Amino acid sequence: MEKKSIDWGNIGFGYMQTDRRYVSFFKDGAWDDGVLTEDANIVLNECAGVLQYAQTIFEGLKAYTTEDGHIVAFRPDLNAERMEASAKRLEMPVFPKERFVEAVTKVVEANAAYVPPYGSGATLYIRPYMFGFNPVIGVKPADVYQFRIFCTPVGPYFKGGVKPLTIRVSDFDRAAPHGTGNIKAGLNYAMSLHAIVTAHEEGYDENMYLDPGTRMKVEETGGANFLFVTGDGKVVTPKSDSILPSITRRSLVHVAKEYLGLEVEEREVYLEEVKDFAECGLCGTAAVISPVGKIVDHGKEICLPSGMTQMGPVTKKLYDTLTGIQMGRIEAPEGWIHVIQ
Ligand SMILES: *Cc1c(COP(=O)(O)O)cnc(C)c1O
Repeated sequence: MEKKSIDWGNIGFGYMQTDRRYVSFFKDGAWDDGVLTEDANIVLNECAGVLQYAQTIFEGLKAYTTEDGHIVAFRPDLNAERMEASAKRLEMPVFPKERFVEAVTKVVEANAAYVPPYGSGATLYIRPYMFGFNPVIGVKPADVYQFRIFCTPVGPYFKGGVKPLTIRVSDFDRAAPHGTGNIKAGLNYAMSLHAIVTAHEEGYDENMYLDPGTRMKVEETGGANFLFVTGDGKVVTPKSDSILPSITRRSLVHVAKEYLGLEVEEREVYLEEVKDFAECGLCGTAAVISPVGKIVDHGKEICLPSGMTQMGPVTKKLYDTLTGIQMGRIEAPEGWIHVIQ
């Protein structure tokens, strides 16, 4: 198959329209068979549930080319399970797990020409989502839903080398106690936009959100979970009901324990103790781990000993091992790599 002529190393994280996407409708209590379509546009009624009351959820995962030339996706079954949890919380129908994985497979196959080659650092980003389709004016769940998956090639995250991030402790919260922080819903992102725009204006890369109940504990950023490393090489990751369960973070915890023999603590992490950590990273599909160099809490600077020019040594080992597993250079745990082609 002929690849598209794309300068893989120099594309950013943006939307590029690809050839085909998957669409399925939920109507009269059941999902239809679903189709691949070339139509990238959606025609919606002006009163659609998603437009009025933000009834929409999404997922994000990647497909890429491994060292031996296969096209694979990383743990799509976990995205299906997480989307099921999101759907239930927003009173939406569940798109069955087997069908989710099958639809991801079909979309990637149909756009194989857009899957970046091995070694380019670029990947094919896959975006499954679901939204309330029919008109809703009285506040209630929609009756008709569309489930859709498109994909778009995205460039290497660390273009021009790793640059540790500077983040600030946010005065805004991203989640409420007993709210929706633990599901992947667009509404969690709408309310983070003001916080990220002002963070950028003030020269910060990201916001560190604290727990909304006491504002004493570390939660996560707008779109990535935290992972810390102690001075004696222990991995610590915050535990909270209002954190989105990152698949990357869960995979890194497994890698830390089973591949690197590190001790891992999943527990509440107080802002007060962050100054004692040796390394800090943000985990998510986009970057796997991006290192944090500095955390600013209202003028008080916490400079991580790993510095502002490179990943800390444990972060680097975690990064190299997980990306090695993803790219087929290191043997993967059973079921992690979904071979598409
Ligand atoms: C998607 C997301 C993450 C990262 O999850 P991955 O499954 O690792 O990509 C972390 N936090 C939030 C709020 C997210 O929406």
